[in-house]
Amino acid sequence: MPAENQPLVVAIIGAGPSGIYAAEALSQQSEVPVQVAVLDRLPVPFGLVRYGVAPDHHSIRSIRNTLERTLSKAGVRFYGDVTIGRDVTVDELRSTVDAVIYAFGAGSDRRLGIEGEDLVGSIAAPEFVAWYCGHPDVHPDTDRTARRTAPDELELEAERAAQLVATTRQAVVVGVGNVALDVARVLIKSADELAETDMADDVLASLAGKTVTDVYLLGRRGPAYTSFTTKELREIGQLPGVDVIIDERDLELDESSQAVVGQDKVAARNVAVMREWATRQPSGASRRIHFRFWTRPIRLLGEGRVRAVETERTRLNADGFVDGAGPGETIEAQLVVRSVGYKGIEMPGVPFDESTGRVPHSEGRVIRDGAFSDDEYVTGWIKRGPTGVIGTNKSDAVETVTSLLADVHDGDVVPRHRIDELDALLASRGIHPLGMPAWRRIDAAEIELGHSHGRERTTLAHRAELLAAADEPDDEAGRES
Ligand SMILES: Cc1cc2nc3c(=O)[nH]c(=O)nc-3n(C[C@H](O)[C@H](O)[C@H](O)COP(=O)(O)OP(=O)(O)OC[C@H]3O[C@@H](n4cnc5c(N)ncnc54)[C@H](O)[C@@H]3O)c2cc1C
Repeated sequence: MPAENQPLVVAIIGAGPSGIYAAEALSQQSEVPVQVAVLDRLPVPFGLVRYGVAPDHHSIRSIRNTLERTLSKAGVRFYGDVTIGRDVTVDELRSTVDAVIYAFGAGSDRRLGIEGEDLVGSIAAPEFVAWYCGHPDVHPDTDRTARRTAPDELELEAERAAQLVATTRQAVVVGVGNVALDVARVLIKSADELAETDMADDVLASLAGKTVTDVYLLGRRGPAYTSFTTKELREIGQLPGVDVIIDERDLELDESSQAVVGQDKVAARNVAVMREWATRQPSGASRRIHFRFWTRPIRLLGEGRVRAVETERTRLNADGFVDGAGPGETIEAQLVVRSVGYKGIEMPGVPFDESTGRVPHSEGRVIRDGAFSDDEYVTGWIKRGPTGVIGTNKSDAVETVTSLLADVHDGDVVPRHRIDELDALLASRGIHPLGMPAWRRIDAAEIELGHSHGRERTTLAHRAELLAAADEPDDEAGRES
């Protein structure tokens, strides 16, 4: 029998926004006493807020201050540098806690399925983004024996990315969402503008040496069908020293586009922004961003390295799907970034729907073998797919936690475990998690490094650098939770 007031021990896998919002929802209620362990495979928390949100979007990145406050609350503990599925299995974790919440995001990319996709110079946006955000997976330690490969290890290595950007004059970004805009901005912005970010030193050095003059964004549907948010789209038209080139004919709306614009205010605003661009006379700037709608790549051309993208024109068929509508232009490009969506990947031991790339659930309760699991819940991108803004994860996490608390109320989930059981399991495997004190030391080290170069902060990209910064100088064990 559990003692009265024995806290419910909940392990959350993933310290991105959704995991942290779930911890917040658990710690803010007073009905059920809780102890929350938020585990992440990386030494640092915040998920895509650190490793996805564009470095030049300072105010959005500052959301991490709010997330940090939650991880510092009594009853919530961060366990960094613990990979579930490798350091301990999901089943082992489940045997030490009362409930688990999966919040491990959707870290993989979708493919185009066209010839030439694997040429050097053709990369997926998640890899490129991880590179410029300083993700340790793509900034491997020099001592490769010390590398810990992640289950979804990204393949692009920093050196290769640096070489690609240094030798690119024209780039094509396939996709018309906010990530495509982020990639285009990073590729076209000047070195001085990028120096105002917290990019890692070697990333900044590579981008400072780049010679990109033109970035083409390709949308296989029309301008009414983009998934840009208007603020991010407008920003493109305000970049100093950059002309935006858009063909007026692409902005003529067919019947279906008119219907979309009639119903969707964001689509209508986006089309208005692009129409204003189309009226502008190019200033003759040396850098340009080109938008091409009703255009999709059909082949990447090149021998070894991408040299051009062959495209075709498209149109919607009667069922609303995209059909080819004849040959399009061939765009010279030395870099192609495929920004056609993120995708969830399976974690061993966790139910997974391959067709949706998500963990099957109802209101956050995981469905295992056709029935509700006793102790498993899910939130964030791995629950609903890669959609919405950061705030969407908050309401999503609240839904999941509401389901969990209702199950506790109904006696379906009962506090039986103590947090020391999880600690003992990790210790028995030689795993010493990094806690918030370690994060604060990393934070201070990044700020100090930044200040030493006249910047606000410089990201430490290598795992070895993060671990060195996390170490307490006189802590023999070198780790603490
Ligand atoms: C490039 C990009 C830019 C974006 N920009 C914006 C923006 O400007 N504004 C905005 O509102 N939204 C933006 N978003 C969306 C936002 O980042 C997501 O909504 C949010 O991060 C999803 O949260 P999550 O917690 O589900 O996943 P994630 O943030 O991906 O967090 C998942 C966490 O799980 C961890 N994990 C994975 N596997 C394991 C494992 N085996 N063991 C332990 N831990 C594991 C990961 O390390 C990660 O920290 C952007 C997304 C991307 C990709």
